Amino acid sequence: MKNDANVAIEIVKAPTSKIDSVDFENLSFGHIFTDHMMVCDYENGAWKRPKIVPYGPITLEPAAKVFHYGQAVFEGMKAYKDKDDKIWMFRPLENFKRINKSSSRMAIPEIPEEYFMPALEELVKLEKDWIKKGFGNSLYIRPFVIATEAGVSASPSKNYKFMIICSPAKSYYTGEVRVQFSERFSRAADGGVGSAKAAGNYGAQFYPTGLANAEGFQQIIWTDASTHEFLEEAGTMNIFFRINDTLITAPTNDRILDGVTRKSIIKMAEENNINVEVRKVAVKEIIEAANNGTLKEIFGTGTAAVINPIAGFGYQGKKYELPKLTDSYASFLKDALMKIQYNLAEDKFDWRYLVE
Ligand SMILES: *Cc1c(COP(=O)(O)O)cnc(C)c1O
Repeated sequence: MKNDANVAIEIVKAPTSKIDSVDFENLSFGHIFTDHMMVCDYENGAWKRPKIVPYGPITLEPAAKVFHYGQAVFEGMKAYKDKDDKIWMFRPLENFKRINKSSSRMAIPEIPEEYFMPALEELVKLEKDWIKKGFGNSLYIRPFVIATEAGVSASPSKNYKFMIICSPAKSYYTGEVRVQFSERFSRAADGGVGSAKAAGNYGAQFYPTGLANAEGFQQIIWTDASTHEFLEEAGTMNIFFRINDTLITAPTNDRILDGVTRKSIIKMAEENNINVEVRKVAVKEIIEAANNGTLKEIFGTGTAAVINPIAGFGYQGKKYELPKLTDSYASFLKDALMKIQYNLAEDKFDWRYLVE
């Protein structure tokens, strides 16, 4: 359903825009927010009409349940502008479905599609000047839901706020990324909330990631919680390994986030006759492949960076470097996927979504 649903969204425009004070050439990811935000409240058992208002602080009671029990979920998506000033999103219905999947795991009421999509599209249209043309420029969109009922009893909130905020982004070089395979800490367990974009999953990673940073690694590759023998995913990215000419990535389960980029990359690889295996990836197998020279690449996939190549990794106190390839799957697939996102290539799978 496009935005022809019967939802008139109330818009209160910001009196002035701060866009002229923004240095779009030197954006650091996720620090600057646009002029407006979307707010939709859940009260008395129903979602109220979405509203777009000037971006700014919100007031909550100190007893709001989000502060005490972390009942909160989020999404991450992007909008792009092509050379004709058309605005596109990439598979936004996947994000819509996923925020509701995350919500139901966190006992948060699901958002109706006829609220989510028009609210999102109206906000993106209103902020269209913040989306700069050019390959790599985008508007990062952050929908989220928080529990707002005041009360410290450990039970689901009766009230919620669903909001959307936007931040201009550009593709920038983050430097070489080296990762550490986790031997002790875990991000998710069977039966847990790893497959939900639940706020607490991320807060829990900061401490172990800080320890890895101190040893010279930018990120951790999480292993399965029970044996630490299988590689599952990165902090906010799914992870792929290339052994010889085969790409391998772990199957999704309740410990792994079902990434939109992950499943798009699997499709694009298959479309380009790259062999993809979706199966468990043993640490042992990767170490052996690194030692015998058949491990060619490791890369992460996610909305923010699309594909993030990994330069090396650490495991059991040893450091391993990956070869520098001129024909990497990471750069080929990143370019191919971005061309679809920016309306520069044919969209065989109908992934692009025109915002109009
Ligand atoms: C959001 C996220 C991803 C990537 O998902 P995309 O839909 O590709 O952006 C991967 N892993 C985790 C843990 C995430 O939170």
